[in-house]
Amino acid sequence: MPTVYNYDVLVVGCGPAGSMAGMAAARGRAKTLIIEKKKDIGIPVRCAESVAGLHVYEKRLGIKVDPASISNDNVNSMVLYSPSGKESGAHRIKSSIVERRLFDKDLARHAIRAGAELLINTRALDVLKEGDVVHGIKAKSDGEEIEIQAKVVIGADGFVSNIARWSGMKRPELSFQCYSFEFMGLKQDPNTIPIFIGKTFCPGAHVWWMPKGPDSADVGIGVLNGFLGKNVSLRTLFKNFMAHPVASQMLAGATPTARMTGTTWYGAPADKTYGNGVLLAGDAGSIVWVAHGAGIAMSMSSGYLAGQAAAQAVEVGDVSARSLSRYETSWKSTIGKSVLPQVESARVFRELVATDEMMDQAVEDIGTEVLAMLIHGRGYIEQVKEWLREYRKKHC
Ligand SMILES: Cc1cc2nc3c(=O)[nH]c(=O)nc-3n(C[C@H](O)[C@H](O)[C@H](O)COP(=O)(O)OP(=O)(O)OC[C@H]3O[C@@H](n4cnc5c(N)ncnc54)[C@H](O)[C@@H]3O)c2cc1C
Repeated sequence: MPTVYNYDVLVVGCGPAGSMAGMAAARGRAKTLIIEKKKDIGIPVRCAESVAGLHVYEKRLGIKVDPASISNDNVNSMVLYSPSGKESGAHRIKSSIVERRLFDKDLARHAIRAGAELLINTRALDVLKEGDVVHGIKAKSDGEEIEIQAKVVIGADGFVSNIARWSGMKRPELSFQCYSFEFMGLKQDPNTIPIFIGKTFCPGAHVWWMPKGPDSADVGIGVLNGFLGKNVSLRTLFKNFMAHPVASQMLAGATPTARMTGTTWYGAPADKTYGNGVLLAGDAGSIVWVAHGAGIAMSMSSGYLAGQAAAQAVEVGDVSARSLSRYETSWKSTIGKSVLPQVESARVFRELVATDEMMDQAVEDIGTEVLAMLIHGRGYIEQVKEWLREYRKKHC
């Protein structure tokens, strides 16, 4: 017989969503456990590590991130380069580039300090269900089969999310594959994020370049699923990127110090992020900055709201889907106000990047500033749609 443990709230996964969920649930006086399948939190890193508006989120969540986990807090602008190397004017953004291996562990510390317990090397194997009511999980902890009974299970288990699958919750299909490196020896402005668009190196998406220090950065390509041609590898696309007229100069003589691959969401959030006894937060609920797939801040925020909702449901003794639906209401009425309209901007961007000619012409006609804002999910949707209509009239 497996050993059985009992908790009010069980969080599966100790990434940004899981830590903030655990912290909020513990702050809400729920007996909370976070489990993490890895032996060491935060590694391997599968991320370009940029968090726009980090300090705003810190305030909202009532935390202070350890400064040692931030490698560059001075990013203040973004520049867009067209396929042929035309450069936009810099537009202002505020971003922090973190060290995920330290950052994720620091967030876990916040959860533990709030009173949550953490079990590493503990993998969820299945959910425990009666009908469609989730009431815990089966897990393997340090090689031992265990059962964890919980009033609410929060799936914070990332992109693959078995908790979503086992609980029968559907997620969208649109995602992009990432192929990226941490480089040293770059020629760059450490305060500026350069963004590159071009069909030959990142079909359907864009290149990110997150400066971590004077000459180091996370640089990667994203390829939308279905956009990778037959017999074309991500490695080949990255080589194509290295030949870009501007990027080639910035990368000349640089050395990769890490390679990070993975998949991230690029589309609408899950249809439903709650069920009877279960919630999905962060990547598990595909709650990301839809326009470009950045998920750290959205995971922290949605995790926090999930933890709060779970603790409240436990307190009132009602963990039904109806009661837990307050979580979806709260994330949709806060972070959802920014991310949900981006479903349309991401769709428009996909139309725009169909060919390099169209991208270059768009840069010429409407300016990189507008395109940079579109990529960033900050409006200009109608302006770009209008331009696309005119372009098609002329060229189709
Ligand atoms: C290459 C790449 C670059 C990216 N760059 C950025 C960026 O610059 N900025 C940004 O904001 N976002 C970026 N993202 C997205 C970002 O990494 C995610 O959105 C974010 O990590 C999601 O946080 P999370 O807590 O929801 O999930 P995760 O960080 O994936 O954490 C999930 C945790 O659950 C654990 N887990 C999974 N299954 C189980 C199980 N069965 N039992 C126990 N534990 C389990 C995992 O081990 C993991 O620790 C990038 C993604 C990729 C792939």
